[in-house]
Amino acid sequence: MATVYFPDFRLGKVLATSFTGTLSERYGETLERIPVPSRLADWLAVHGLEVDSCTQLQLDRARELRESIHAVATAVANHNPLPSSAVQVINSCSTQGSATPILTAEGGRKWRLSSSSVEDALSVIAADAITLLAREREGKLSLCASPTCRAAFLDTSRGGTRKWCDMNTCGNREKKARFLANKRNSSSLAD
Ligand SMILES: [Zn+2]
Repeated sequence: MATVYFPDFRLGKVLATSFTGTLSERYGETLERIPVPSRLADWLAVHGLEVDSCTQLQLDRARELRESIHAVATAVANHNPLPSSAVQVINSCSTQGSATPILTAEGGRKWRLSSSSVEDALSVIAADAITLLAREREGKLSLCASPTCRAAFLDTSRGGTRKWCDMNTCGNREKKARFLANKRNSSSLAD
C-alpha cells in the first residue's frame, strides 16, 4: 500500500488560531491540513486533546467551527458586527462538549476531556476562541497582510504592528517578492 502524506500542521501558541490555521491560503490556493478524520484526531492529540475516534461527521463539525471562528475573528479585526450564525456555531460547540482544566505537577495547564470525544475537544477550542474574540487576551487580534491568506492571529508585539500570520511563510514570501521586484527594477535601470 502506498503511504499517503498529509500536509504538516502549523503550530502556533494560541489554540484557536492554530486551529483556524489548519486551512491555509483561504483566498488563494487553499490547502486543507485536516483532509480526513484521522488528521483531525492527530491535530487534537498534538494539542493535548486526545480523542478516542473521529468520524467524517465530526470532522465536518470541526471545520464548521473553524470557519466560524475565522469569520468572527475577521469581523472583530475589522471592527464589523459579528456574523450571528457563526457566533451560534461557536456557542453551540462550546456548550455541547465538556472538559476540565487540570494543573500539572510542572505548573502547566492541560485539559481533561469528559468523554474523550471530538465534541469535548471542540468545546475547548470554542472556549479558547471565545476568550480571544471577546478580547480578553493580551494583544491585538489582527489579520495577515497577505491578500491570499488573511489568517487571524494574536499580535502580542509591543506596538501591535505585526503584519504577517507567520514570518516563515507569508512574511518570507513577501520579502522574496520585494527582493525580486527590486532586482527587476535595478536591472531594467541598467538596460
Ligand atoms: Zn498569512
